[in-house]
Amino acid sequence: MALARMKRTPGKLALLYLDLDNFKHINDAFGHTAGDNLLIEVAGRLASLLRPGDTMARLGGDEFLILLNEVEHIDDVGLVAVRLIDSLKKPFFCGEIEYFVTSSIGITVAPEDGRDAVSLVKYADNAMYRAISLGRNNYQFFTPELDIQAHQRISLEMKMRKGLERDEFELFYQPLVNITDGEIVGAEALVRWRHEGELISPDAFIPLAEDSGLILSLGEWIMRTAARQAKKWQEAGLDLGISVNISSRQFAGQDLVALLRKAMTAEGLEPGRLYFEITESMIMGDLTKAQRIMGALRREGVKFYLDDFGTGYSSLSYIKRLHIDGLKIDRSFVKDIVDDLDTRAIVSVIVSLARILNLSIVAEGVETDAQLHILSGMGDMLIQGYLISPPVPVQQFQTLLVERQGDRAHPE
Ligand code: C2E
Ligand code: CA
Repeated sequence: MALARMKRTPGKLALLYLDLDNFKHINDAFGHTAGDNLLIEVAGRLASLLRPGDTMARLGGDEFLILLNEVEHIDDVGLVAVRLIDSLKKPFFCGEIEYFVTSSIGITVAPEDGRDAVSLVKYADNAMYRAISLGRNNYQFFTPELDIQAHQRISLEMKMRKGLERDEFELFYQPLVNITDGEIVGAEALVRWRHEGELISPDAFIPLAEDSGLILSLGEWIMRTAARQAKKWQEAGLDLGISVNISSRQFAGQDLVALLRKAMTAEGLEPGRLYFEITESMIMGDLTKAQRIMGALRREGVKFYLDDFGTGYSSLSYIKRLHIDGLKIDRSFVKDIVDDLDTRAIVSVIVSLARILNLSIVAEGVETDAQLHILSGMGDMLIQGYLISPPVPVQQFQTLLVERQGDRAHPE
């Protein structure tokens, strides 16, 4: 109706797609009744800011769609968005407890962006997606580039889904080596996507897999494949740990214990071989929850490496509380360790503290003999990096195993 009216009267119309940023947490923390009450109050606050001719609807979950009629200037829409966002900044109450929500808004304007309802809703949704990816708690206008990006995203996502069905994913393994005697003691599993003759690296598809939720099925496949490999090595009499990277979406949203049990039962793997690599940002958000998840996994025999250590908060106190088994020193430190004395000092302190806390250390991204030499001076640790080997397909990894064992048998 608004579009039909727009043809006859001057002015534009604007569609605002609003998403509450942390609604799920509130539902989880305070229960669904509190969630329902929150939605009612949010709706009330938003509606109080609209004019009589405007329309607002809750589309479902925590998403609202707002239609503004007879808009004169596009700038006015931005002002409305600011007011809507601000109105939600004041605290909400559940009994005595005060809590806060923020919102992200995507805006599309007709007739500039389009003239049919289906496209406009989609455009507003694209713009909201953009607002969320820019850190939430803001608004964004739709631009045609967003539509192109959205198309590319969807098409890549579909290709990944198909790729998973067609077995296009593969795990590469990179050795973890004992710095003192060069023995391979473990492997990090790193996923690759063989698509149309190309080998695609995880940085190009893991973020999208996270956004789309595909990481859940991909993660299941990764865990299953890693468990199968660990079992094979175990049967061959090789004492190797396998570490698997866990993404934040998996950590927060997937029943990792169930998944792990399924993989271990299916593959017949005994516990104690698997390491999960997690990052600080995953646990900082909700320490209690992280403690619960990790406790349950630990009881299944999983060990934990803190990945990319040094790039985040580097808080040793919660490392102890969470019973982490080891730290992986980020390769940005290793890169500078030769030329930058401050970096060298930092790494040396991390290594000493880790030793006191009884944590193992893995230095990542070791590429040169000079780096190796300096790290050797810091004592016992594991190293990983191109100097030893890049991540390689499993057959090549096994060749490495044979060569290395050969080397150790004949050190000269
Ligand atoms: P990450 O966990 O930090 O993985 C280590 C990355 O460093 C790997 O890149 C590896 O190839 C690279 N690397 C190893 N040694 C060296 C070195 O000496 N020099 C340099 N410059 N780089 C080195 P890759 O395989 O491209 O993986 C990138 C990231 O993708 C990983 O970072 C990890 O966060 C993510 N990822 C990879 N596989 C998986 C997976 O199976 N699941 C999940 N959730 N994430 C994964
Ligand atoms: Ca890793």
